[in-house]
Amino acid sequence: MAKRIRRAAVLGSGVMGSGIAAHLANVGIPTLLLDIVPRELTKEEEAKGWTLEHKQVRNRLANQALERLLKQKPAPLMSKDNIALIETGNFEDDFHRLAEVDWIIEAVVEKLDVKKAVFARVDEVRTPGTIVSSNTSGISIAAMAEGRSDDFKKHFLGTHFFNPPRYLKLLEIIPTEHTDPDVVAYMKSFGEDVLGKGVVMAKDTPNFIANRIGTYGLLVTVREMMQGGYSVGEVDSVTGPLIGRPKSATFRTLDVVGLDTFVHVANNVYENVEGEEKEAFRVPEFMKTMLENGWLGSKSGQGFFLKQGKDIFELNYVTMQYEPRKKLVTPAVEMAKQAKGAAAKLQTLVYADGDRAGTLLWNIIAPTLLYTARLVGEIADDIVAIDQAMKWGFGWEQGPFELWDAIGLEKSVRKMQAEGRDIPSWITDMLADGATSFYQTKNGRLFYYAPGGYKPVEENEKVIHIRRLKEARGVIKKNAGASLIDLGDDVALLEFHSPNNAIGADIVQMINEALEEVNRNYKGLVIGNQGKNFCVGANLAMMLMEAQDENFFELELAVRQFQQALMRVKYNPKPVVVAPFAMTLGGGAEVSLAASRIQAAAETYIGLVEVGVGLIPGGGGNKELYIKRLNSLPRGVDVDYVKIAASVFETIAMAKVSTSAAEARELGFLNHRDGITMNGDHLLYEAKQAVLSMYEEGYRPPVRKKVPVAGESGYAAMLLGAQSMFHSGYISEHDLKIAKKLAYVLAGGKVPYGTEVDEQYLLDLEREAFLSLIGEPKTQARMQHMLVKGKPLRN
Ligand code: NAD
Repeated sequence: MAKRIRRAAVLGSGVMGSGIAAHLANVGIPTLLLDIVPRELTKEEEAKGWTLEHKQVRNRLANQALERLLKQKPAPLMSKDNIALIETGNFEDDFHRLAEVDWIIEAVVEKLDVKKAVFARVDEVRTPGTIVSSNTSGISIAAMAEGRSDDFKKHFLGTHFFNPPRYLKLLEIIPTEHTDPDVVAYMKSFGEDVLGKGVVMAKDTPNFIANRIGTYGLLVTVREMMQGGYSVGEVDSVTGPLIGRPKSATFRTLDVVGLDTFVHVANNVYENVEGEEKEAFRVPEFMKTMLENGWLGSKSGQGFFLKQGKDIFELNYVTMQYEPRKKLVTPAVEMAKQAKGAAAKLQTLVYADGDRAGTLLWNIIAPTLLYTARLVGEIADDIVAIDQAMKWGFGWEQGPFELWDAIGLEKSVRKMQAEGRDIPSWITDMLADGATSFYQTKNGRLFYYAPGGYKPVEENEKVIHIRRLKEARGVIKKNAGASLIDLGDDVALLEFHSPNNAIGADIVQMINEALEEVNRNYKGLVIGNQGKNFCVGANLAMMLMEAQDENFFELELAVRQFQQALMRVKYNPKPVVVAPFAMTLGGGAEVSLAASRIQAAAETYIGLVEVGVGLIPGGGGNKELYIKRLNSLPRGVDVDYVKIAASVFETIAMAKVSTSAAEARELGFLNHRDGITMNGDHLLYEAKQAVLSMYEEGYRPPVRKKVPVAGESGYAAMLLGAQSMFHSGYISEHDLKIAKKLAYVLAGGKVPYGTEVDEQYLLDLEREAFLSLIGEPKTQARMQHMLVKGKPLRN
């Protein structure tokens, strides 16, 4: 049986090796990062009088990788502090130290002979039982293990991360026939539970799952573009969000990946398959020319697109010149934009015969679906693995088989047959058997089609799907903005589902009703949802409308009710765990701050950003962030309330948003009791477990205490900073006005330093300040701008 992974080593500190080391550090695993010893000195090293024997020279590659980790955007590290967990070294002086680790992951250049030589050395030094894996993009795993010891082979497998490892969810695990099934099972759960990845089991075939299909789909797209005379920009305008794919669509994705990497991956399949399929992986001439010209994409400054100042130009693949970017606008595109839901949009497009966009999309999608269907069994055991790989690795909203269901299996197959396309026999058999979709849900369980009949989709027990839960159990209560659902084990879930999960009166009402229900019949409550973002704040449009109509009475009431609901959450006798993830802004952050405990996804971007729309937090956020920072200090130490208020002031006045849950902890949104869940799909499960453990421990709500504030001296200190920023032109007059209000609220008003005030008094100050700001024309202009343009107005 595999041992637990407590320490790891990464071999190769390039793009992937350093990114993997960073992610291991993110989950708290001390990691040794090794690279080769340089053979030549750099000019700087010579100038310092160093020789090739100098430690800094010998570790140069890995050391440079560490420096890059601190600078890279998006950040590979969830907290800069995590870098302390990565120790650098080299392949000569430190190789023996591989005996100390439990997992060795190889990420050196993509060459079989180099990898084999590395593994031969690993085999000599590793401790028996140590797991060894390769991050290869597509070289045969079995071939790499040839000649190795039995113990090595038993513990060897492919672990294919996607770039960047922190952000891309997919981890393909590729066992060989010799890999111990216990090692495979352990790595699957380690990948999911500890690393937070979406693990897919792949077979040892060229490029495994996602890159095989992704590369095929991309090359089909290029060929269809050339045959139909479409432009690069036209293709990107219809192969992105319109069909449920990332904004970077086709060619911008390629520019980000790098054409060299892409061609390498495509060639790997080309060299390892035969016949018609081989031709499909032949890279078109113009892309080879791009490669020769060094037009690799973002890393070389130009690729399919070229950015000059604010303008973006696209490559004309016939003239090889850059031209203004074009978009494909056709009746089908317009109709699809209006259509509701992914299925309706796709159907509008792919069956729009004669429409230039529709024809292109059908001609890309149809062969990709058929190719994928032919590979089931060869590259993966079932369709589920393939769908998950494409969603997690390429950011597609739907996998190929889900997309196929969305456009209608029977209808699309009829069209394919009419066009003389070759349909895999298992699909025609499936239809003949009366099975007309790849997926079905029954009583909240998802089933997938496999020859012989539908089988249940096996998932990690920690994955909860709210939609399926509702299908199976219904809801306890519901209104337009939120639902109360039974999560099982006597825990309830309050789900936000208003547009963008914005908080309005309906959600506030539901918070109150949920607490009543939970206190009567449940052990506790989870507040969470599974949208794109946890919550981006209050319903700005509604507030602006009220403010413009000068309905200040209604606004006052709404803010007061929100404050009261969150006070009820805070002092509720049963535990309330809030489970934020992704964007958790404004009111979303305030709901989190009111919780008995926060269970945040590792990727949580939390902040009180009201200043951006000319406001300050109105739901108790100022007070709670202040109290949370105050409470994080041990009792008995001398506390400087001015410093604490000023630090909260800085966070709110600058609308700081954490770039991870780890950073949210550094900003004081989370404390040491709050939990972080690496795998976003496990968030609700872990939030529920937190409720249960608090309940079992005999949960008591916090005791309502008076809050010591910084008072007048705090106000003066905060104001001074804001005024100097105003005088040096960093902030506008309106910013200064907002800053004054914020400082006043955080200082607890005009009271002497150290005065102990009631929480309600602080809420009243906050509400007053909020209402006076929302009446300001400049604040209303900021709100309007945010609603229309989606970004803050500086006025
Ligand atoms: P890279 O070029 O950034 O890094 C390669 C590393 O190998 C460097 O640290 C280099 O010093 C080291 N190296 C070079 N020659 C060596 C030798 N003779 N012996 C030992 N080490 C040597 O490459 P990368 O993109 O990080 O790729 C590493 C692995 O990960 C490859 O197998 C690649 O296929 C795979 N991969 C890459 C990506 C990607 O998007 N870049 C994604 C998934 C997997």
